[in-house]
Amino acid sequence: MKTSTIEKRQANGQIPPATLLSTEPDRNCQLCPRLADFRAQARAKEPAWYNAPVSSFGDPQARLLIVGLAPGMQGANRTGRPFTGDYAGDLLYATLLSYGFARGSYEARPDDGMTLVDCLISNAVRCVPPQNKPLPAEINTCRSFLGLTIEALPRVRAIVALGRIAHETVAKVLKLRGSTVPFGHGAVHQAGRFKLYDSYHCSRYNTNTGVLTPEMFRSVFAKVKADLD
Ligand code: SF4
Repeated sequence: MKTSTIEKRQANGQIPPATLLSTEPDRNCQLCPRLADFRAQARAKEPAWYNAPVSSFGDPQARLLIVGLAPGMQGANRTGRPFTGDYAGDLLYATLLSYGFARGSYEARPDDGMTLVDCLISNAVRCVPPQNKPLPAEINTCRSFLGLTIEALPRVRAIVALGRIAHETVAKVLKLRGSTVPFGHGAVHQAGRFKLYDSYHCSRYNTNTGVLTPEMFRSVFAKVKADLD
């Protein structure tokens, strides 16, 4: 790949910053056979889509790490940038822009020029799962990549977990006992040098059913912002 192409794809979030390259799975990672098969089917059906493990996106010197569940089929799996192209991204990026954790404008495509500020986004599971539901074995298998990512981020202090699976994955990476850090929207758990903030996932389902309102979501980031300032 030409250098200019690499730089462009790094800016678009489709490949991670150089310091995080070694923390990412191979494009053809086969560790989860079911997800590898599903990815291959998606490549055959939609060859112009990204259809690969989605890399972390943002600032490798960030103090805030956001951990989602997994790429959505029409969102990050299609575009190659976390939370880009589906409803969850609309709410997440609008919130990040309003709290100064992103700059530019979010236009639901990876070349919209938006950048993250003091913030990096990753996922508990890097490949799109059928029906947005990874199996427990797949969550366990992919967790090592999140562990490597957190190890490679020297300045991270705040971790926002979007949903219970992200919360449990981060808790395991940080070696916290589940019963000592129960998941709950708005909960904050101290974990050594990290603070773990819980939020319901910003999925369309959660917002349509009223489980999560934009105000509830914003309140999590308001807390993070106040703690980091
Ligand atoms: S989910 Fe993670 S571990 Fe499983 S195949 Fe994808 S990249 Fe590999």
